[in-house]
Amino acid sequence: MKVFVVGANGQIGQHLVRLLSESKEHSVRAMIRKEEQAKAFEQWGAETVVANLEGSVEGIMEAANGCEAIVFTAGSGGHTGADKTILVDLDGAVKTIEAAEQLGIMRFIMVSSIHANKREKWSNAIKPYHAAKYYADKALIASRLNYTIVRPGALVNEPGTGKVSAGEELARGEISREDVAATIAAALNEEHIFKRGFDLVSGETPITDALKSI
Ligand code: NAP
Repeated sequence: MKVFVVGANGQIGQHLVRLLSESKEHSVRAMIRKEEQAKAFEQWGAETVVANLEGSVEGIMEAANGCEAIVFTAGSGGHTGADKTILVDLDGAVKTIEAAEQLGIMRFIMVSSIHANKREKWSNAIKPYHAAKYYADKALIASRLNYTIVRPGALVNEPGTGKVSAGEELARGEISREDVAATIAAALNEEHIFKRGFDLVSGETPITDALKSI
């Protein structure tokens, strides 16, 4: 499957592009924001395309055209204000969903955030971020796409272990970005998690078994 990765130059994004490029099952088109970011992807032989989530739906469609799945792992980051959270994490995600629907790219994996689906659990410090994730996920749930919403706990940069805990409602925890990327790659063809979401934290279960247990 040819996978369009939005947020490919990010930390999860780069792990994911590498894993998909190495896999026999998938190929990848990495969406980046600046031409000079393309160099990092040459080592994996990954295709790149320049587009911006603050641009038009048509711009995203042009970039994604010909792909068979989309992974959204972009985010404005904690260093920006709530304005960028709305424009990138919310509107950028909704524009990507609209682009997928218009292009008929049915498989869509969204990187959300643990407990973003439960208002009462939103953290006071990052409420606008959780609200952005909540409404982006809601737009995806309302779409006709075969979505899976992955809700990771706090991201860390430890090397992946290949073992996680995945379930519809888990306690807050941490997870390595490399394990999030490996879970996304393994989830692409898992039809039993189409139109569903799950929390993801570090754990003791091999990724493929953890996905099967959801
Ligand atoms: P990251 O390293 O900050 O990567 C985010 C990517 O989004 C970057 O590559 C960035 O591009 C891209 N981006 C930002 N604005 C954009 C725009 N306007 N158009 C196109 N791309 C844009 O993030 P990460 O650590 O890999 O996290 C990935 C996802 O996990 C995010 O959705 C985040 O909300 C979610 N998440 C984070 C946590 C956490 O603990 N931090 C927990 C749960 C979920 P540039 O490289 O050009 O800057």
